[in-house]
Amino acid sequence: MTNNSACCTGHNPTPGAVEQVNKKSCPEETLDDLAATFKILGEPVRIKILHALSISNLCVCDLSDLLGMTHSAISHQLRILRTARMVRFKKDGRRAIYSLNDKHVEIIMQTALAHMQGDGCEIPQGDK
Ligand SMILES: [Zn+2]
Ligand SMILES: [Zn+2]
Repeated sequence: MTNNSACCTGHNPTPGAVEQVNKKSCPEETLDDLAATFKILGEPVRIKILHALSISNLCVCDLSDLLGMTHSAISHQLRILRTARMVRFKKDGRRAIYSLNDKHVEIIMQTALAHMQGDGCEIPQGDK
């Protein structure tokens, strides 16, 4: 790749590429659901909750202290995250202990943070 332009010159699609992607692609509905999930993640406080839960299972009181928010504000965010299948809870006596929904959510958080921190990513060294 010697061209510094981030776009092709003219319209010259790779032969067979579109057919190959269409053949292997997930249903559009699934991709729309994924976009909706990322939209839910696009709120810093929800990312902070998920990050905290990736370190330890916590109840609403813990998250309230951690993030300096009221119980009702935390509960509201947890309800949104639960609807999006990002977190779940287990009753422990009178406490509700929240955790990440499953291994996928753990991996999403780990991978996204690694991406942000540049772990295992090729960091552009500037134009040559
Ligand atoms: Zn509690
Ligand atoms: Zn899953």
